[in-house]
Amino acid sequence: MNFPDTRDQALARLHKFVRHVGRYSSNRNHVIPHHGNVSCLSAAIRHRLLTEWEVAEAPLTHYAASTVEKFTQEVYWRTYWKGWLSLRPQVWDDYLEGIEEHPDAEEIRQGKGPVAVMNRFARELVETGYLHNHSRMWFAAYWVHVARLPWQLGAKFFQDHLLDFDPASNTLSWRWVAGLQTPGKTYLPRRTNIEKYVAPELLDPHGLELLENPNALMPGNVERPEVTRPSLPEVEVPSDGRVLWIHEEDLNPESSPLGAYRPSRIVVTGEFFGKSKIQKEWLKAALDDVAGRAGKHYDASVEQVDDLIAWVGGNGEAEIVAMRPEVGPLHDRLGSFNESGLKLSLVVRPEDRYLRSLARSGFFGFWKKLRSRMASGEFPASGQRELF
Ligand SMILES: Cc1cc2nc3c(=O)[nH]c(=O)nc-3n(C[C@H](O)[C@H](O)[C@H](O)COP(=O)(O)OP(=O)(O)OC[C@H]3O[C@@H](n4cnc5c(N)ncnc54)[C@H](O)[C@@H]3O)c2cc1C
Repeated sequence: MNFPDTRDQALARLHKFVRHVGRYSSNRNHVIPHHGNVSCLSAAIRHRLLTEWEVAEAPLTHYAASTVEKFTQEVYWRTYWKGWLSLRPQVWDDYLEGIEEHPDAEEIRQGKGPVAVMNRFARELVETGYLHNHSRMWFAAYWVHVARLPWQLGAKFFQDHLLDFDPASNTLSWRWVAGLQTPGKTYLPRRTNIEKYVAPELLDPHGLELLENPNALMPGNVERPEVTRPSLPEVEVPSDGRVLWIHEEDLNPESSPLGAYRPSRIVVTGEFFGKSKIQKEWLKAALDDVAGRAGKHYDASVEQVDDLIAWVGGNGEAEIVAMRPEVGPLHDRLGSFNESGLKLSLVVRPEDRYLRSLARSGFFGFWKKLRSRMASGEFPASGQRELF
């Protein structure tokens, strides 16, 4: 498998994949060798080598919007989760505080548990940094409801290996499987469902009897997390001449409001993503790619550095402009950046601000509103084409 790690590769994959999007809704759930039913673009989208609206628009060169609605919806699940968590950042803090090691977890992480297909998924995750969506759902459900391990520890296992690790999609999907995100609803790993959707050559039946009739582990009283951060600060793009900081949360500032900025110099970091070797390798290639693109686009010198604060200290630069990172490991460090005297101007894409405002309750309400904005041509503002 390969997971595009440059913008050109991601665009090439997107344009190849769009021809198959007409069959996406019937094929998507089937887990087959090499994952040809899905795009495998999640790492590129998550780190913004591509934007969601770019990906959503691409299939329209081949299909009517209604034919590819399922794909468009999936693309916007990411944006929805991101908006939902951004409105309630305490849910991320609670996840971090809840991570606690468990004596039975290592056996499952190493792919040495009693259910062979789950062992395959654990190994695939560690070896490739990717799992099909359905495999993620079954594995998470097995972890929580069958192995009876804490969901936070499972989410951390994914965090430490997925190339597309996304604080919102990961944390909230694990919460959903565990019955915390939609109170009263859990997701269970059922033998019949696995047999139906996993290609026979990938399915070793050993241990499937444990998934014959799994019992849901229902959480106790589930409270709906409140919106605690209703809006993000409005920051105008500052006048030209500051340092432009490009980081792992947005590797495509050229397509943002910072596209027209004229920085004095550019610094690229990827400090807070990547624990595993393959995560680090993926990110390194993507950072090299953005450094090359940004140097040409902005016609400015670019430095890749490991530690932003140390670089700032050594270079006497204090005023920096960047894309605002969303809730997650990099965002958690902003406080210490401010304390070190850094003056950061953090810019939000208008599309993100707008979609965040629609993510206050469930996905289908979000989608209904977004779909009608797309139909009227109101969204995306930069779109060349009307959806629906
Ligand atoms: C327990 C669990 C943990 C997950 N953790 C992550 C994570 O850390 N990072 C992450 O990017 N996704 C996560 N997902 C969502 C989803 O599984 C992946 O985005 C998807 O499998 C990526 O594969 P793809 O690019 O081939 O998707 P495709 O099917 O080709 O979909 C196209 C794009 O739509 C978006 N998308 C599709 N399905 C989802 C979904 N269910 N939720 C959010 N966005 C979606 C992705 O950007 C994806 O690249 C998780 C799902 C579960 C059940």
